[in-house]
Amino acid sequence: MHKHKKSLGQNFLIDKNVINKILNKVSPLISDSFLEIGPGEGALTYPLINKIAKLLVIEKDQRLSIKLSESLNENNKITVVNHDVLKIKLEKYVDGKIRVIGNLPYNIATEIIFFLLNSKIKIQDIHVMLQKEMVDRISARPGNKQYGRISVMVQANYEVTKLFDISPNVFEPKPKVWSSYLRLVPKQAVFIDDNHRENFKKIVTQAFVSRRKMIKTSLKDSISLYDIYHIIGDERIRPEQLSCNQFIEIAKYV
Ligand code: SAM
Repeated sequence: MHKHKKSLGQNFLIDKNVINKILNKVSPLISDSFLEIGPGEGALTYPLINKIAKLLVIEKDQRLSIKLSESLNENNKITVVNHDVLKIKLEKYVDGKIRVIGNLPYNIATEIIFFLLNSKIKIQDIHVMLQKEMVDRISARPGNKQYGRISVMVQANYEVTKLFDISPNVFEPKPKVWSSYLRLVPKQAVFIDDNHRENFKKIVTQAFVSRRKMIKTSLKDSISLYDIYHIIGDERIRPEQLSCNQFIEIAKYV
């Protein structure tokens, strides 16, 4: 029996119904290529492998990855990489479109979402399990108190769907919090160029440093009052009231 490493966020799924529910939502096709982040003991990996064309799994825990590569019988369909996913150049392993799946280690889930967002590989979609509280923040709408930098950053780049909540009881060991399953589908042609994308990141970060400050104050070094008024029609607005499309528009004028 594997000794669970808390530092690696190891809470393993043990409930077949939840695993089936996840795979139903993912709907793998026999022609699909998948990347699984943090396969652990293979709760999602084993049911997935016979349904798809190719699978790349990245697992930081050496003992688990050795076990997986032995039992999965690594061949040209399956690649097991023993590494920290955040330190990998994914484009070295992935060519063509890939679907991402994972029950993410919660302590670095935000970093993994941003890592995927900034990666150069072509992602078809992402299905991941995260802490419920984080999924609620990612999918929050403007005006909601959970709406913040991560909601804007993720919603600007992806169509976001919260699929369902998952109780701590379906894991071993049980986490302290509820989880949720999330679908992200990349949006096409959101930014005019890299400069626009970088300006967007910059102003979203600046605006949410102080969410109660009006953007005419928090963005005063980046954009003129005239431009804010021209784009939004109200220079007294606060970041929590702006949609991600409005941030994308503002970033054109920075
Ligand atoms: N997918 C399995 C399941 O659902 O039962 C395990 C999920 S567990 C929440 C997270 C997994 O991610 C663990 O196996 C852990 O070792 C692995 N992990 C943690 N940090 C990682 C990292 N930086 N890169 C790759 N894998 C990581």
